[in-house]
Amino acid sequence: MTINGIGVSPGIAIGKASLLKKQEAALSGITLNDEDIVIEIEKFNSAVTLSVQEVEAMVSSYDQSQGKEGLEILETHIELLTDPQISEDVTEKISKEKKNANDAVIEVIRAAVDLFKNMDDEYLSARAADVQDIGNRLLRNLNASVSTTISAYEVDTIIIAEDLTPSDTISMDTTHVAGFATQVGGRTSHAAIIARSRGIPAIVGCGITLMDIKDGDLLILDGQNGAIIINPDKNTVEQYRIKQENWLKQNNLLRSLKDTPATTTDGVNIKLMANIGDTNDMEQAIGFGAEGAGLLRTELLFMGRDAVPSEDEQFEFYKAVALKAKGKPVIVRTLDIGGDKQLPYFNFPAEQNPFLGYRAIRICLDRPDIFIVQLKAILRASAFGRLKIMFPMISNIQEVKAAKVILQQAKDELAKAGINFDKNIPVGIMIEIPSAAITADLLAKEVDFFSIGTNDLCQYTLAVDRMNEQIKELYDPYNPGVLRLIAYVIEQGHKNNVEVGMCGELASDPKATLLLLGMGLTEFSMSAAAIPEIKNIIINNSLATAKQIHKRVIEMDNSALITAYLQEITL
Ligand code: PEP
Ligand code: MG
Repeated sequence: MTINGIGVSPGIAIGKASLLKKQEAALSGITLNDEDIVIEIEKFNSAVTLSVQEVEAMVSSYDQSQGKEGLEILETHIELLTDPQISEDVTEKISKEKKNANDAVIEVIRAAVDLFKNMDDEYLSARAADVQDIGNRLLRNLNASVSTTISAYEVDTIIIAEDLTPSDTISMDTTHVAGFATQVGGRTSHAAIIARSRGIPAIVGCGITLMDIKDGDLLILDGQNGAIIINPDKNTVEQYRIKQENWLKQNNLLRSLKDTPATTTDGVNIKLMANIGDTNDMEQAIGFGAEGAGLLRTELLFMGRDAVPSEDEQFEFYKAVALKAKGKPVIVRTLDIGGDKQLPYFNFPAEQNPFLGYRAIRICLDRPDIFIVQLKAILRASAFGRLKIMFPMISNIQEVKAAKVILQQAKDELAKAGINFDKNIPVGIMIEIPSAAITADLLAKEVDFFSIGTNDLCQYTLAVDRMNEQIKELYDPYNPGVLRLIAYVIEQGHKNNVEVGMCGELASDPKATLLLLGMGLTEFSMSAAAIPEIKNIIINNSLATAKQIHKRVIEMDNSALITAYLQEITL
């Protein structure tokens, strides 16, 4: 039997289930005599002091190698424990309503938890767990019976619980606990955040069926796919053991490289960035050591809904991503719809060749009403982080100039309204159409950066539909024609002082890393999970070697030779 939930922390755990029963704190209903009021207030104050000391002890023994997220959460707990409002509310309940400290704490915490839970913002609403957490701690220290403490467990225990508090997750002994699953919770709950930063495989939001699991059941918990297999057969266990080993190898590499700069052995710094679609991806990217986002595909915000998102909605979205990036750069690509990306509420014309048709910047220039709204939203968000603007599907210089005119208009309107934005926001274009690649020297005069989109560059250079399975063998980024265009764009970018990155899939292909490096590419953007492997190649090779590789490849006249050679040197 399999139970599914939200996989929030990847990795595979195989072990025995241990059900964590939550004991609700009970109200005593006692009414105090006047002379007991001072005693109960003192009891509460002592519980606060003791609780703060406990959390401070957790802070000082905190293992920084487990990521600093846990530390930040503990510091929030100290702030909550010493929050004057909570203290005032509890004291008032004791002195005016004559409740004992236990009941006063339960009621004040319940009200605060409800307040957070009902907030619309997913992140803020998940903070209810922190308030509950400090409440439980206070009650424990008041000798009330509340317990979700994670005590000693057998090796390879998988904890099954209704919910886990952040401090349960922080203090989990990972030498014994192999993973956990909870009935409730979402991706942004602190239990999930801590699990990710501590590398504990975890699944949340499994629903009530999770409680079908019995103490001692053998479980396989797949934190990547959000699945728990209950009492699997031998073959399945064997299969998952192999998966687990592979994952551990990959993960160890990841963890050991996360904070290592991507520098070649001869000292050249390479920027490894992530391709993202939303704030979750941004958070994940930072976890994988990305130095920013080389591509935010904004069309994802426009999909799966029934109308164009408003300027405010878009602003909030871009702002949230900018804040999540914590000062790292984010390249925001303007709307790239059309082709294979259709919107249900947008009237696309029927076209013979959608990929050669009404797409991306062509739509935006045709519909400045939609375009300017997006530009204004991005500009407003640029006051909250290091955003850059990128136009997709540029085929000629007039399009760049026209897009910049609308951008200027957006800036003028915001300036007139006294709204803050980054006046020097860098502007770049995607190089994904052959005419743009061949005229890179001309386009360079108009922009601050290029990003090579090999997915489209390959399809347009080779006249091969990227979606057509029948001709997929022809879709080949190692075709010398495609490689020459890429090399030319990088060369012209450098000659003209324009930064050049790559955000197409080729940037994440380990076979291509040294070749691209040898061409002079210094910025690679890819799905976050691919970063460690690419970084590993970069830090173990020199630019000098990469240049030699590029030299050899230029002499080859077909992609079979090129890929065989690259395959050989990558192994
Ligand atoms: C590309 O074309 O290489 C690219 C990154 O853009 P998309 O895949 O979104 O078209
Ligand atoms: Mg593209």
